[in-house]
Amino acid sequence: MDEGVELRRTADGKGDGVLATRPFAVGETVMVGFLVGALTGNDSHATQVGPGRWARHGGLGSKVNHSCDPNCGVRLNDGQAFDFVARQPIAAGQELTFDYAMRNFTIDHFPAVCLCGAARCRGSVTGWKDLPAARKADYGDLVAPYLRTMDDGSGKAPAAERSFCVPVAVIDQGR
Ligand SMILES: [Zn+2]
Repeated sequence: MDEGVELRRTADGKGDGVLATRPFAVGETVMVGFLVGALTGNDSHATQVGPGRWARHGGLGSKVNHSCDPNCGVRLNDGQAFDFVARQPIAAGQELTFDYAMRNFTIDHFPAVCLCGAARCRGSVTGWKDLPAARKADYGDLVAPYLRTMDDGSGKAPAAERSFCVPVAVIDQGR
């Protein structure tokens, strides 16, 4: 089955990325995400899933690179993982990108200077906390839901924290 995406590997590993193998329309799910475990802290490949909570995505989801003008956003799925959803038309052969700020409230493990190359690059890989309001509005619903609750203050409530818990057990959807 053609899943519509493939890994682009480079010899040094640093240029790895995920490419579309067919076109995707705006709003289409490009890649279904799944988690392989919870984490006790942030690292460079962690996904923030709530205030003070991180998890690791399996499959190619962990290989999608950051852009300050990304062609994908993220949507929380039933497995508490993030699907990648096209927010711009994507052509076959084009690299998939998303904004790390769509999932992470803070970014602690990236160099200060962003190298994404987008015309509207904001210069550094920031988390949601430091994302300009216009960009937050631009991303609409294609961000981690907990980030919106952080902005209105409800994310600090214990009840909201619990609702974003991620199962500790390994989740394998057979992919
Ligand atoms: Zn950038």
